[in-house]
Amino acid sequence: METILVLAHVEADGSLAKPAREALTAARSLKAALTGSTLCVGLVGADVQAAADAIAGCGAERFVGVAGGAFAQPRYATDALAAESICREAGATLILAPGTSRWCRALPGVAHRLGGRADAHVTGLPVTDGTLAVTRWYYRQRIEVTSRRTQRPWVILVDPGCLDPWEGAAAAASVQLIAVQPPAGCLRTTVSGFLTPAADAQTIRPDADLLFVAGAGWTKVQPDGKVHVAEAAELILTFLRETQASLGGSKSLVDLSGEGQSVLPFMTHLNQVGQTGATPRHPKGLATCCHGEEPHVVGWRFIGERRAVNLDPNCGWVRGKADVVYVADAFAVMAKVNALLAEKASA
Ligand SMILES: Cc1cc2nc3c(=O)[nH]c(=O)nc-3n(C[C@H](O)[C@H](O)[C@H](O)COP(=O)(O)OP(=O)(O)OC[C@H]3O[C@@H](n4cnc5c(N)ncnc54)[C@H](O)[C@@H]3O)c2cc1C
Repeated sequence: METILVLAHVEADGSLAKPAREALTAARSLKAALTGSTLCVGLVGADVQAAADAIAGCGAERFVGVAGGAFAQPRYATDALAAESICREAGATLILAPGTSRWCRALPGVAHRLGGRADAHVTGLPVTDGTLAVTRWYYRQRIEVTSRRTQRPWVILVDPGCLDPWEGAAAAASVQLIAVQPPAGCLRTTVSGFLTPAADAQTIRPDADLLFVAGAGWTKVQPDGKVHVAEAAELILTFLRETQASLGGSKSLVDLSGEGQSVLPFMTHLNQVGQTGATPRHPKGLATCCHGEEPHVVGWRFIGERRAVNLDPNCGWVRGKADVVYVADAFAVMAKVNALLAEKASA
């Protein structure tokens, strides 16, 4: 019989972020599938009551928390201390946590302290004949592996974006607060602030419905014998502004930006999708002026519906990598799409 613990850190405003509520969905499905199991919620933050109230109706038998100013900041020493205390108090055998950077850093160490094991980047938790397994991808999303463990406690970090976040009515939750006093040595690291790009320069939007990928073709000599980089930038930025799509790039394009050539200034290596870039999750994707070579397309593993616009009828996308390929000039296509979006906005 498993004691399932959902371990979440509370945001600065006291709320629970989407990845935490996704981990809660996973925990609830395990509770339903594993006969006799119990569910406990563990919360860490400056103040955990509001977060507990928000998920009071999730079906957990217990809410346990570690609260205080020292636990507001993402810091390995205090995060590990708080998480370890909660795991011990709950007697957890299965510990489900959102795969945030904060927990990915702290929880493997906690598993070690507890004599358990940790698995990160988990994308699924199938239960067969009463036995839990986890799935995750290896070799840049080319191989999916299903594995089981007998060792407990088992810390499972669930990749954000794989499950629907739990939604339910708020109520008053009764939280058992554990008094944890961090020793002075645990408080040496402080977060002095956050550096974030201006809102209109923020082109990576993990929650967007659409991934818009720009390839190096936007910077290449076009059929009229000229390059049209300024026009390309205007077309892409207009489309992003109107649709709030997330911007991805091919390696060739982001490398050009990195080499200081006159290319798209808003494109950085953070936008790169592919084998040596990111593997974002979006329901739809549109590739433009991108050849669709395997090292790029492997980053599209978790894109639902794929479309591409390319002048070349033999490009990689045509070879079974996209659902729809428009053999067309992306400058013309995107100008038309933007005009239609403007029409729709003014209607
Ligand atoms: C070890 C390794 C790791 C790699 N990792 C990555 C990675 O993570 N991500 C990645 O992207 N690549 C990666 N690559 C590189 C990858 O193999 C390709 O070289 C790269 O994706 C090509 O980028 P591209 O398609 O934008 O450019 P190009 O190959 O230059 O293609 C440009 C395309 O634009 C089209 N085009 C031009 N003008 C227009 C127009 N007006 N309208 C429509 N289409 C037009 C052309 O027909 C052409 O198909 C990796 C390679 C290696 C060896």
